[in-house]
Amino acid sequence: MTQLPVRQTTLDLIGKTPLVLLKGPSEAAGCEIWGKCEFANPGASVKDRAALWIIRDAEARGELKPGGTVVEGTAGNTGIGIALVANALGYKCVIVMPDNQSKEKMDTLRALGAELVTVPPTKFADPNHFVHTSRRIAEETENAVWANQFDNIANRRAHIEGTAPEIWEQMDGRVDGFTCAVGTGGTLAGVAMGLKEKDENVRIALTDPYGAALFNYYACGELKAEGSSVAEGIGQGRITANLEGAPIDTQFRMSDEEGMEWVARLLREEGLCLGLSSGINVAGAVALGRQLVAEGVENPRIATILCDTGFRYLSTLYNADWLREKGLPVFDWLGSDSQD
Ligand code: PMP
Repeated sequence: MTQLPVRQTTLDLIGKTPLVLLKGPSEAAGCEIWGKCEFANPGASVKDRAALWIIRDAEARGELKPGGTVVEGTAGNTGIGIALVANALGYKCVIVMPDNQSKEKMDTLRALGAELVTVPPTKFADPNHFVHTSRRIAEETENAVWANQFDNIANRRAHIEGTAPEIWEQMDGRVDGFTCAVGTGGTLAGVAMGLKEKDENVRIALTDPYGAALFNYYACGELKAEGSSVAEGIGQGRITANLEGAPIDTQFRMSDEEGMEWVARLLREEGLCLGLSSGINVAGAVALGRQLVAEGVENPRIATILCDTGFRYLSTLYNADWLREKGLPVFDWLGSDSQD
């Protein structure tokens, strides 16, 4: 009998992703660092899970009817997940995105048949923010639902019911710590809740990029941002419904440079091509591993999320001119063929 997975429908390809031991990060932390390969989802990101749970939830509540439309505001990956799930279930979708996101994501959404609306990036308080624009479009469209990934807790349920038990099983019930960054908070809150259900001693850490307000919130109760980041899909300025009640024990803040160092090492030393949020997560996992080692925990085992594929960022993170323009270090293997 084969041990290789066989699935009955294409939607069953979402989730049940492999977990991989990361060699460089484990050596750096002095313990085991495991990466959940969310780039292995059909839409190549962790957000396929949220898309599937949100759409199934809207169907179960009777809000999404045959032939209906799913509308969402997204930095891109959720839109890609929604477009795939909507296609598989016979729905249409409208995706609203800030126009500073990678061209690859926009091209991918168009290629998948989504109706794409781009808006200028702006503050959340501005009614033209991509989130509010998407809500308005949903209200104005017949037989449409607004996915509302930030405040719809079907998002975190995908991780309570899916990602967390998968990690628990894949690590044979020995998980000492988990960390990741926050966009909507669905992944961090959901995995945190799911793992704590199994063992309340699992240490949960937020790894925040600069430009986000959550590090200060969990450290000292004040939502306050410092600095900035070019990482797409992460960086939150408020407590979303998905984050409410999340059992977070500790917090780290990682710079884009620290995240890029792990992106570079994982690519060059381990053959993994990832986006920047994955690099920031791995930097956080190394910090969490070191913390547990320093406290005397014997060979701690840490898990984090490898959120999406680096192929989504060829024109940004993997482009020497773009990196220079952003004042970021250029990966040394990209530097020589610059068009400058
Ligand atoms: N990394 C990337 C690349 C993403 O697109 C997202 C989703 N916004 C995240 C991380 C964060 O996931 P979540 O929304 O579950 O917090």
